[in-house]
Amino acid sequence: MSDRKVSWRDRYPEEVTCVRCLEVYDQVQLDRMLWCENCRQRARNRASWYGWIGGIGFAAACALYVWFVIVPTDLVVGGWLATLVAAAWIGQKVAREAIYGAMRFTNARAVEAVPPTLDEE
Ligand SMILES: [Zn+2]
Repeated sequence: MSDRKVSWRDRYPEEVTCVRCLEVYDQVQLDRMLWCENCRQRARNRASWYGWIGGIGFAAACALYVWFVIVPTDLVVGGWLATLVAAAWIGQKVAREAIYGAMRFTNARAVEAVPPTLDEE
């Protein structure tokens, strides 16, 4: 045990550049991976949208499975629809977490950065 508490923040100066948007923030506003609050929020929103694609895809796969494999004889439409909506909902959540995790893992640099305008005086 050292007498001084060592934190990952000690490795960085007071002001740190967010790796996603390249804006400079006070280091307390960034997390371990140097993502600012806005970038985390944007990544979550994007993951959420892609998550719906995954969720609806999963629900469609379930629908095909139900239709061709289970082959419901007495089709209770409401019941199956509720099941598929639930499948889409759960699929969206799972896909969203997976996509957000992948974004964190790949940690692409400067993807939220706005290029400086050329005609700036
Ligand atoms: Zn940022």
